[in-house]
Amino acid sequence: MQRRDLFLRLSRIAAVMAWQQVFPTGARAQSPHDAAWASSGDPFPLGVASGEPQSDSVVLWTRLAPMPLQADGGMPQASVPVRWEIATDARFTQVVRQGVIVAEPAVAHSVHVLVEGLASGRTYHYRFEAGGHRSPVGRTRTAPDPAEPVQQLRMALASCQHYEHGYFTAHREIAASDVDLVLFVGDYIYTTDTPGHIRVRSHAHEMDPNPAGRTLADYRIHHANYKLDDDLRASHAAHPWLMVWDDHEVMPDYTGDTAPGVDDQRAFLAARAAAYKAYFEHMPVSPRRVPFEASMPMQGRYRWGRLADLWTLDTRQYRDAALCTEWPRALMHGKLLWRCEAIKSDQRTFLGHQQEDWLAAGLAGSDANWRFVVQTTQIAPWLIRSPMGPLTYAEGWDAFPMARARMMQAIAQPRVQDVVFLGGDVHRHVAANLRLDPFDRASPVIASEVVATSITSKGMSEVANAWVREGNPDVLHMRSDQRGHVLLDVTPREVRCVFRGTPHPVQPQSKLRTQATFVIERGKPGLRKA
Ligand code: FE
Ligand code: CA
Repeated sequence: MQRRDLFLRLSRIAAVMAWQQVFPTGARAQSPHDAAWASSGDPFPLGVASGEPQSDSVVLWTRLAPMPLQADGGMPQASVPVRWEIATDARFTQVVRQGVIVAEPAVAHSVHVLVEGLASGRTYHYRFEAGGHRSPVGRTRTAPDPAEPVQQLRMALASCQHYEHGYFTAHREIAASDVDLVLFVGDYIYTTDTPGHIRVRSHAHEMDPNPAGRTLADYRIHHANYKLDDDLRASHAAHPWLMVWDDHEVMPDYTGDTAPGVDDQRAFLAARAAAYKAYFEHMPVSPRRVPFEASMPMQGRYRWGRLADLWTLDTRQYRDAALCTEWPRALMHGKLLWRCEAIKSDQRTFLGHQQEDWLAAGLAGSDANWRFVVQTTQIAPWLIRSPMGPLTYAEGWDAFPMARARMMQAIAQPRVQDVVFLGGDVHRHVAANLRLDPFDRASPVIASEVVATSITSKGMSEVANAWVREGNPDVLHMRSDQRGHVLLDVTPREVRCVFRGTPHPVQPQSKLRTQATFVIERGKPGLRKA
């Protein structure tokens, strides 16, 4: 096991080095291909992005694709040098770092520049240049010094942006907001359409629902399609992002190395490898995350001075397979489970045992004012009492009750206080208190949960919400009729959560309004309405 680990790590480092050879500033690889692609138009229609800020570094991203809806982006099968620069001012009179990185055809001419040696707690501006073209300017930020007593952190929490279900107006608001970080918690792309559902626009390209029919080219075109949206590009260019993924980046409801209704596991793993690779190629994630075969390391840890520690979790790649997927154990297309005892095994894991231990150890060692656990979905149980007995939601933590109990145990340790879970996936705004034992009203509230509704993806019916609210009085707020995001204003004293929303489907010119505001006071787990 250890040897395999070491081998994986070395392979990854070699892969990174192969396309991270930095040329001396100003160097140009002249090739006969150069002129052809450079004259075919702007190579930066997918924009620029940044992410994973630390106190001394940040990742800058772009991808050269003058013909973005072609699988090769309209680029030759050749390496192309890309110049990057980062400055303290938007006019680039104070450039603090610059270099040349090679964009390789093997990664769709994407570049992931890990810029190190930056000052802490600062705003920076960055841009790229290739083939005589200049990219748009992006703005980013480094985290404050880990020891600094920071007074404020502002974040936007978002997820679930089905391109066909509405316009990305929420991103326009995020782009214009004064936030330090954007937390995007999954379902960045959707690879399936929803027949019979309202559609305000169409994907440029349709994907085979069957994994055997999907290729890397399919996923690349799909990602490019999303990045061509002006509001999404603006949101990336305005702020650094921290990202986790959910199922739709690969295939609906997949769990680890299997997907429901897919018999050919090998074909599924090949599709997963293609999906992870295309995801890497299109996101402002660290070059250290470069996928190897069908896996890609996604979890991360970040710190915002002494104010906050943040963990970003991968709840898909290591998740155990769904159980009881056959009728009559599974109802509503496998979304609800009935009398499925097998899910109660304590062997079952949602995060993978390694990631579980890593999170527990990190939480125990954290000395920040706040601990934010950033993951995909809702943790507060949906207790659906039906005439046939209780039904369990199959797609989230509810189907992994022992894994959730272990995570709650880790939080119940006396040293681990002021924990806030941030999630998405369920297409509704949720504010909930989390108890050590969620099924026991006498058990103490030990953490708070905030879930952001979708940017565009259709929400569930009010009937379903009513079931959930009725079954779980710790759910203080739940609305699925609006699309939007959550603004989180963090100070040493409190976290203010502003649920922003607009009716479904989102129209291009729609304005978001505040649906509700909740406050979490430090030292007092749980939310209260402001
Ligand atoms: Fe979703
Ligand atoms: Ca999802």
